Amino acid sequence: DMLRTPAAVQDAERHTAHNYHPLPVVISSAEGAWVTDVDGRRYLDCLAGYSALNFGHRHPALIAAAHAQLDKLTLTSRAFIHDQFADFCRALAALCGKELVLPMNTGAEAVETGIKVARKWGYQVKGVPAGQATIVVAEGNFHGRTTTIVSFSTDDDARADFGPYTPGFKIVPYGDLTALAEAVDETTVAVLLEPIQGEQGVVVPPAGYLPGVRQLCTERNVLFIADEIQSGLGRTGATFACELEGVVPDMYLLGKALGGGIVPVSAVAADADVLGVLRPGQHGSTFGGNPLACAVATEVVRLLATGEFQRRSTELGERLHAGLHALIGKGLVAVRGRGLWAGLDIDPALMSGREACERLMERGVLAKDTHGSTIRLAPPLTITAEEIDHAVAQLAAVLAG
Ligand code: PLP
Repeated sequence: DMLRTPAAVQDAERHTAHNYHPLPVVISSAEGAWVTDVDGRRYLDCLAGYSALNFGHRHPALIAAAHAQLDKLTLTSRAFIHDQFADFCRALAALCGKELVLPMNTGAEAVETGIKVARKWGYQVKGVPAGQATIVVAEGNFHGRTTTIVSFSTDDDARADFGPYTPGFKIVPYGDLTALAEAVDETTVAVLLEPIQGEQGVVVPPAGYLPGVRQLCTERNVLFIADEIQSGLGRTGATFACELEGVVPDMYLLGKALGGGIVPVSAVAADADVLGVLRPGQHGSTFGGNPLACAVATEVVRLLATGEFQRRSTELGERLHAGLHALIGKGLVAVRGRGLWAGLDIDPALMSGREACERLMERGVLAKDTHGSTIRLAPPLTITAEEIDHAVAQLAAVLAG
């Protein structure tokens, strides 16, 4: 019998620019932690949309919220106020422990918004001379794909030939407090960091780094902006990865899972002394904070407020990491991460990350490589213990050849 996948893969390639290098699987339906392809084959989803699917595919409460809203109101633009807006902003602000939120759509937009707010805060509140604001970022960062954001990427693929680059950023080694302290001066308005670097391979900074960043920012009157777009909303076992180190940033950047895997929803959360620098007319987004987005995201916040997903991530994360650590020396050279989030370095003598992901796919497990020999695992937080064991067993089989 003929498989539909090869033609469907070719079809998908025909009229698209190559911004990703997808695995040759064509998915047509999904539920929970499982997806089904056009040939009816099932796969355990261990990427979960780069953590956009923390609650699994088509979580019933999120689908219900979306359906209900689709039947009432989907878009007003922010020229008008709609009845889902206040509830969402109140709920998300409470989850973040911040006074204000500003909803956008994609992660990159949240980052851009954070950069704009930090600069304005720098000029209007801190008193940085006009046009001089600098933001300190880390080597190995990933914050998105806009021209400004790729300007301070250290990944040549992401950055090369997309210039001229936006000035105003200083890059320091990730995890190095001394370098950070040296980079901060009177023009610094913000330190922008991922509390765990996702795209870089789930890189966890040394203990004490995030509290050190917090202290430095407080002492030097600099905003600490935590990009929790991938690390936040339950992925690491806490609502925010910063929490694991007892740190509260001045600004959270959120996205991905905030939209419940249904709609793009991102947001910036901060107190009024920071986000309040934006006055009417100074920032905007046609779709940001639309009724459908707010209805779904309010339900996302409600799910997170139960603490159930954070608990699952902590408990099942221990199981995942124990299983993976047992493979060190058996094809893995290193395992990093927190909660249900892991970066694995495959022994490069064995195979590439890409090859490992292709073989995992053949065994019914979907994951994605990053930077050569690294694989990232980020299954939905609804995954069961048995499913984790299954994924680890398939990985072990792939590594054993
Ligand atoms: N920031 C981080 C930490 C991310 O991991 C990502 C996406 O992978 C982004 C920002 C960009 O988000 P988006 O792809 O929605 O623009």
